[in-house]
Amino acid sequence: MVKKEQPHKDNAPGPFYVCDDCCTACDVPFVETPDLFSYDDQNHCYVTSQPKTESELSRMIRTVLSAELECIRYSGTDPDVLRRLAESGYSHLADVPILDVKPVLRNHVTFNPVDSMDSLLSTGDLAIMFQSYLRSQENDYLTYKFRSLYSDGFTYTFEYSWFEDNYHKVEITFLGEPNCRWLIVTGTTFQIYDWLLAGNRFCDIRWYTRDQWIQSKIWQATPW
Ligand code: SF4
Repeated sequence: MVKKEQPHKDNAPGPFYVCDDCCTACDVPFVETPDLFSYDDQNHCYVTSQPKTESELSRMIRTVLSAELECIRYSGTDPDVLRRLAESGYSHLADVPILDVKPVLRNHVTFNPVDSMDSLLSTGDLAIMFQSYLRSQENDYLTYKFRSLYSDGFTYTFEYSWFEDNYHKVEITFLGEPNCRWLIVTGTTFQIYDWLLAGNRFCDIRWYTRDQWIQSKIWQATPW
């Protein structure tokens, strides 16, 4: 049996909870889920509202995965939530043991344009849009470097780094299929996910593992 941590006393009743006495006020919950968390008068965060919609649930799970001190946990038994935690490599953040679910990397995403005019975008245009999005996130402590690797009209491959020369590859391919106009293969799933949603320019966003993309085409709306 996995050990249950002591919850903060102010957590809203329900399966997601912040552990007591663990807070360094990292602010992570207030980036993704400000509507579900608050700080108490000691600057310790706690859950103010349990997720009620699929969107809130997805954002809550991402917050659980992003909290570096691993101080947000799940005490419920919903098989889908347990699977998503375990597939993301965080089964230890559930209070019940999760058996027979291995971590997976959901690093293939397909998407379509909302506006038919955007269907004319080339893969190089998409790369520039993503790079502009990252540049808009830069600040005194965060800057990005980019380098192009390959382009043939259908596939555009580049790398980018935000720490020294630790480059991460992004491959954008034109598919032109219904519901799958473009395919991106990436290791930086959270940043691509945020960009795809940021401007409301893309829809039919579908995430797959490599095997799912090649074989079953089973997808979900988030990489986690
Ligand atoms: S996620 Fe953890 S460290 Fe961050 S604000 Fe909440 S309790 Fe504090």
